[in-house]
Amino acid sequence: MTASKQQIEPPRLGEPYLLTPGPLTTSYEVKEAMLRDWGSWDDDFRGMTRELRAGLLALLGEGSDEFDCVPMQGSGTFAVEAMLASFVPRDGKALVLANGAYGLRSAQTLAYLNRAHVVLDKGDYLPPRGDEVAQILADDPDITHVIAIHCETSSGILNPVEEISEATYAAGRKLLVDSMSAFGAVDLKPSEIRYEAMVSSANKCIEGVPGFGFVIARKDELEAAKGNSHSLSLDVHAQWAHMNKTGQWRFTPPTHVVAAFIVALRAHAIEGGVAGRGGRYARNRDVMVQGMRELGFETLLDSRWLSPIIVTFFCPADEKFVFDTFYGLMKDKGFIIYPGKLTVVDSFRVGCIGQMDEHVMQQVVTAAKESLEEMGVANAAPPARALEERAKLAA
Ligand SMILES: *Cc1c(COP(=O)(O)O)cnc(C)c1O
Repeated sequence: MTASKQQIEPPRLGEPYLLTPGPLTTSYEVKEAMLRDWGSWDDDFRGMTRELRAGLLALLGEGSDEFDCVPMQGSGTFAVEAMLASFVPRDGKALVLANGAYGLRSAQTLAYLNRAHVVLDKGDYLPPRGDEVAQILADDPDITHVIAIHCETSSGILNPVEEISEATYAAGRKLLVDSMSAFGAVDLKPSEIRYEAMVSSANKCIEGVPGFGFVIARKDELEAAKGNSHSLSLDVHAQWAHMNKTGQWRFTPPTHVVAAFIVALRAHAIEGGVAGRGGRYARNRDVMVQGMRELGFETLLDSRWLSPIIVTFFCPADEKFVFDTFYGLMKDKGFIIYPGKLTVVDSFRVGCIGQMDEHVMQQVVTAAKESLEEMGVANAAPPARALEERAKLAA
C-alpha cells in the first residue's frame, strides 16, 4: 500500500487549497460525514468515541498499552492547557523549551496556571539541545517537568525531542510534548522516545476539522493527575475517568467533528498510518522546496531541520516584492499561504499538510513563479541579512 497510489481530488467547491498548518484542506468524505446529526449519549456515538480513542492510541505503536487517549473539546491550545494543568502538579516546576510562538504560549499558560516555571528561550527558531537541557536540570533540582514542542509550527523546525527526552530522564525528570502539528505524520513512539504525555488536535496531520484536541498520557500519570487541575472543564483526569465509566464526554461533544474525524482516521490508516502520511508530506515538502529554491527563494532552515509540516521562506530582497500582493496573487491562483513569524527578517510560510500531493505542490511552485512575474520580481533571492541569520544555525 503506497501513498502515491492514493487519488487526492481537488476541493469540490473550488475553494483554495489551505497551505496552512490547520485548519487545512480536508477530503470531501470528511466534510460529508458532518451532514448527519448524532445523539451524544447514544450507543452509536459512544462507539465512535471508542474508535477515536483506540485509533489514536494505536498510532503510538509498541508500548501503547501503557497509555490512554483523552479527547478534549476546544482548539489545540485548550488541550495543551489541559495537559499542563493536569500533569504539572501545583507544587511542581516546569522547564519550557521555547523556539517560537508555541513554546512561548506554553510558558504563558503556566503563568496563568500559577505553576512555577523557567523558560529556555532560543529565539525565533534555534533548536533547544539535549546538553543545554541537561545543564539547566543539573543547576535547578526543583524542576520536575520539561515541556517540549515537537514541530515548532511558527518556524517549521522539527525539534530534537529524542535528545531532549534522554537528557530529561537521565536527570530523573518528566517530559510533556506538544506534538500538535506533528502527531500522525512524524513518529513519537514511546518505545523510542520516553515521555509522560503528549497532545495534538483534530485539524492537523490526521486531516479532520477543528473542534477538539486530545491528550495521550501514561495511565499511571492519568491516575496521579486527580485533583491537579485548576479547571473543571479542562481536567484531563476527570474527563478520562468519566469517559471510561460512561463512554461519554463530560460536556457536549463536537459530534459532527468527531464523525468527520472517524472518516479522517480511517483514511489515515488506509494511507499507511504515520509512515504513509509522513511520506506524502515529505514528498510535498521536497517538491515544493526544490521548486521554490529554483526560483531563488531560500529556506530559513537547513534541509536537516526542515519538518514535513510547514516551511519558512525568506521574503525576496527585491523592492518590488510586497507580501500582501504576493498573498493575493497566490490566492487568486487557488492557494492560501501563511505569513511568517520571524522577528528579525521578513518571511512567509507554506504548509505541506492536508489533502494535497506532490502534483499540487508543483502547481504551488508554478503559481509562485507567475506571481513573481506579475509583480515584476526577477529574482526571489533574500537579503544578505537573512542569510547571515541563517548561518547561526550551522550545526
Ligand atoms: C496548532 C498548534 C497549537 C494549537 O493551536 P490552536 O490554534 O489552539 O489549535 C499548539 N501548538 C502547536 C505546535 C501548533 O502547531
